[in-house]
Amino acid sequence: MSILVVGSVALDHVETSFGSVEEAVGGSAVFFSAAASMLAPVQMVGVVGSDYPIEKLDFLARRGVDLSGIETAEGESFRWKGRYSYDLNDRTTIWTQLGVFAHFKPSIPEHFRDARTVFLGNIDPVLQLDVLDQVRNPELVAADTMNFWIDGSRDPLLKMLERVDILMVNDGEARQLADEPNLLKAARWIQRHGPEWVVVKKGEHGAVLFGRDTVFFVPAYPLEDVFDPTGAGDAFAGGFFGYLGRSGGRSDDDFRRAMVYGSVLGSYAVEQFSVDRLKTLTADEVNERIRQFRDLTAFDLEVEAAPNG
Ligand code: AMP
Repeated sequence: MSILVVGSVALDHVETSFGSVEEAVGGSAVFFSAAASMLAPVQMVGVVGSDYPIEKLDFLARRGVDLSGIETAEGESFRWKGRYSYDLNDRTTIWTQLGVFAHFKPSIPEHFRDARTVFLGNIDPVLQLDVLDQVRNPELVAADTMNFWIDGSRDPLLKMLERVDILMVNDGEARQLADEPNLLKAARWIQRHGPEWVVVKKGEHGAVLFGRDTVFFVPAYPLEDVFDPTGAGDAFAGGFFGYLGRSGGRSDDDFRRAMVYGSVLGSYAVEQFSVDRLKTLTADEVNERIRQFRDLTAFDLEVEAAPNG
């Protein structure tokens, strides 16, 4: 089942303690698609400026991503610069140049409008709503957002939430949105405002899935070499949603497995700068890491009755 994704298509400037990169291919729609396309066909919607090296997205086309929803507008592409702390856990945005993204009005190509699964990457919630209005009958809608929109566009964000099945945010964003320090209570608050499922990403500490009656935790894959965390959240979303797109299942177990796929694809994203590692990734490597995850989290224990129970 094809997944429709709308989000940023960027040129990233990134500094970490291991080095730096400039004008690297990035953006939420790109990281998402690079991950999701390992599992399911993807239809991408976004905008680039006339200066974008569009041939650098060829690897996505070769992997079955339909790029016909990428519009080229007159002007400069969206550019973002971020710097990471020594331990890579904190990120500071140095600058954001919206370029053609400032006037982006997503226009969903006719042949994308029957998409059943839709991922609304981190963009203005007004645009996220606009995309939903153009898709005829989506069966499963997931969305990402960030502090910028939680602060500045709360009303459209709350309207968007009413139409979303899965919200994927990081822990700080969940707390900020619900104005609630306890993560479980924050997730329940979000669920009351629309999404049946809330996925809270916690960087190197894994991610938590909140369903109506369940809570499920997945660790981050332990890596010795984390090079550049940029895009990990979007690659997680790509793995998670890619699995749901491929399996078609919607049970608790499907969502739990999707969490593992999310964590695996997120782990590959951080191994190199930009999409470099996701570009060379093979299905065998994904499967191998899924198996490793099973070993990482499985344990065998007979729970005995308490001595005085
Ligand atoms: P992540 O590390 O998963 O949060 O995503 C990082 C990506 O988000 C980078 O490739 C940036 O180009 C992109 N990005 C940064 N700021 C914004 C923004 N305000 N709107 C959309 N995309 C952004």
